[in-house]
Amino acid sequence: MPDTLTESPIRDIVILGSGCAGLTAAIYAARSNLKPLVLEGHEPGGQLSITTLVENFPGWPDGIQGPELIENMKKQATRFGAELRMGHLDGIDLSERPIKVQIGKDTVRTRTLVIASGASARWLNLPSEQALIGHGVSSCATCDGFFTREKEIAVIGGGDSAMEEALFLTRFAKKVTLINRTEKFRASPIMLERAVAHPNIEFLSNTTVEEVLGVEEQDVKGLRLKNRGTGEEFVLPVSFMFLGIGHIPNARAFTGLLDLDEDGYILAKDDVYTTLHGEIIPGVFACGDIKDRKYRQAITAAGSGCMAALEVEKYLEDHGQ
Ligand code: NDP
Repeated sequence: MPDTLTESPIRDIVILGSGCAGLTAAIYAARSNLKPLVLEGHEPGGQLSITTLVENFPGWPDGIQGPELIENMKKQATRFGAELRMGHLDGIDLSERPIKVQIGKDTVRTRTLVIASGASARWLNLPSEQALIGHGVSSCATCDGFFTREKEIAVIGGGDSAMEEALFLTRFAKKVTLINRTEKFRASPIMLERAVAHPNIEFLSNTTVEEVLGVEEQDVKGLRLKNRGTGEEFVLPVSFMFLGIGHIPNARAFTGLLDLDEDGYILAKDDVYTTLHGEIIPGVFACGDIKDRKYRQAITAAGSGCMAALEVEKYLEDHGQ
């Protein structure tokens, strides 16, 4: 067995990302005996690993915890020969075949690449927010909810993520104030209704966060908020702020190498083919949230991971393994 990835023979398939899309691609590729290498990336397990109960993934009538679902997928992929590696992409050369993937000091050579790096939490990008990440500012309710016991906290956003976080955090926090920048909520009616009905969740609409207070103390003390209608500013004393304002695709490494849309999502032709200037890039496929700004569901990510793996199989058949 070679010690380093660099010494490994040319791979048939490297998968970037170990969320629902990447692991489904790995299951399919592994069952086709392609021995996929899965690079786990910055957020191993992807977004499911930081979510709670998943009630809409077919096959679990009572729901399943996101991290458990991901663990099951990992087991399923490794059972058939997938190799999971911690680490992230440090460089990529798509100009020649085999494709060269830089992982730390190692260069992995591969005939095909599946990009399933997903999307990461969006921040407000206020200096005070950035200064307090990990000190009361968080984008992961599942990770940090425990620390909010008996505290008054805020959740920012008006979509399903914000509702889900707010509802989850009521298990710990004394009171959750949900702050939405407009009067309009993107959340699905059922999620919004659940949050509205909860006695420990209060809503502040048409309100923006101007500053997170507590930078000097390195501990969130409150939020300076602004009512967009009246222009009035006021302080909400809270000890935590959770962001639930959507995601940014993890495709920066492909800027200039692949066609991306205006928000940085990979523009995938016919769902899985990557392109540059509209021309298909042979052997390079994309799946999951990195190319899906519309559906962004675990099941759609899994479906597109399957499609990408089937395309890899076909590509290798056509181009000789
Ligand atoms: P969405 O894009 O649906 O919502 C983002 C929210 O954040 C909007 O209310 C948006 O406001 C607000 N926002 C964005 N940027 C800022 C900013 N800079 N400052 C303040 N507010 C901001 O993202 P979600 O992550 O909520 O959902 C993404 C997808 O995932 C959806 O399809 C959703 O249904 C799905 N999902 C499903 C879940 C489930 O079924 N359990 C759980 C979580 C997500 P504005 O409207 O003004 O732009």
